[in-house]
Amino acid sequence: MPEHLCLTCALCCDGSVFSRVPVTEAERDRLRDRVEIFTKEDGSLRMRQPCRQLGADKACGCYEDRPATCRDYACALLRRLERGTVTEAQARGYVADLLAARSRTRALLAAALSETPPADLGLAMDRLRSTPPVDRHAAEAAEVHYTKGAGV
Ligand code: SF4
Ligand code: SF4
Repeated sequence: MPEHLCLTCALCCDGSVFSRVPVTEAERDRLRDRVEIFTKEDGSLRMRQPCRQLGADKACGCYEDRPATCRDYACALLRRLERGTVTEAQARGYVADLLAARSRTRALLAAALSETPPADLGLAMDRLRSTPPVDRHAAEAAEVHYTKGAGV
């Protein structure tokens, strides 16, 4: 089933794709003890990512009560899987490539920053730019996978 793909991924819940998710007042009241919600200057409500309800097994801890934004969201890859334009195996491969690329990027960033005083972020970024780029396949996977659409 396509939704099983998400249990190998969770990129739209763990802060990789979105830093916040719009919620309604009713959702805030329902979830206030289970997730972190803040009010923006314009009075609208947002739930912070990484989401506190995301489990180590990549399942949603409040699945039945999750906000409508979560319920309605499907990334480009999931939509392609549902349309049948990628196979389950291809989709899982894209997710695995992305997770590996994220790990490599984090390692590069950590290495660059550890060699540089935090105040000198420009130098750290120069070092990052001079390191080997994420491989092309992973970059293509990212292009297929990432999509904005939650209206944050
Ligand atoms: S980013 Fe896509 S595949 Fe990954 S958990 Fe979200 S909807 Fe599922
Ligand atoms: S409430 Fe559930 S579906 Fe929504 S971001 Fe959190 S873990 Fe993901």
